[in-house]
Amino acid sequence: MKTAVVTGASRGIGAACAVALAKSGYNVILGYKVNKERAEQLAEVLISGYGIAAIAQKADVSLSSEADALIETAYRNFGRVDVLVNNAGIAGFKLFTEITDEEWNEMIGTNLTGVFNCSRAAARYMINQKSGSIVNISSMWGQVGASCEVHYSASKAGVIGLTQALAKELAPSNVRVNCICPGVIKTDMLSEIDEETIASLVEETPLGRLGTPKDIADSVAFLCSDRAEFITGQVLGVNGGFVI
Ligand code: NAP
Repeated sequence: MKTAVVTGASRGIGAACAVALAKSGYNVILGYKVNKERAEQLAEVLISGYGIAAIAQKADVSLSSEADALIETAYRNFGRVDVLVNNAGIAGFKLFTEITDEEWNEMIGTNLTGVFNCSRAAARYMINQKSGSIVNISSMWGQVGASCEVHYSASKAGVIGLTQALAKELAPSNVRVNCICPGVIKTDMLSEIDEETIASLVEETPLGRLGTPKDIADSVAFLCSDRAEFITGQVLGVNGGFVI
């Protein structure tokens, strides 16, 4: 049985990815930073609903020790690390000149260094196995940049670069690395955006609606599957046509 690790799986897109991978028959390790109860409840639902094994574990991805321990849990319990979904992330809206050192470092530490930490830990196992799939969750703002989100956009552009370089390096080991750039997805991350702004974002989306966590999770499950075995280093926009 294959094993998947999903970071930031306590809610939103990460939780939907954990569900989609459990549905596909993977054992799942669910990482979280603070929402222990939600992650543990989801693990229980996955175990009873899909007959797979699921473990919730605290892992602040910005800390390499916790990222290492998360991946180690997958290997220790199931003997394999087949899939890593680097989903954990934070957002922030700030005028560029008002971004503090602390906010910059937290953004890069979580969204970019977090991807580095978890990918490095997982790649060590995947290279030995001669198989594996890493899917990184970037953002359309990493492709085109968002005003008042320079630190967020920079971290997500970094994820795209990391994906492309790592895909080239790991392809000879049969490890695929791809990246999804979501558009505007209805999760807690939108909670600080007012209704008027949300309405205008919907209007700017050619398909005329917000995305759902499941929209992203379905693409993640596809990229991890055998149906995508010739796909690596790609940046897939799942954005309702917002960025074309
Ligand atoms: P969300 O609902 O706010 O959930 C964020 C998740 O990340 C939570 O599980 C949270 O854990 C976890 N997390 C935050 N900081 C962490 C850290 N340092 N270490 C480990 N886990 C951490 O966000 P979302 O909308 O699902 O976003 C998921 C990913 O999609 C992010 O990378 C985000 O940038 C990207 N994305 C989202 C959108 C969107 O419109 N929603 C668009 C483009 C890209 P706790 O619950 O424990 O806090």
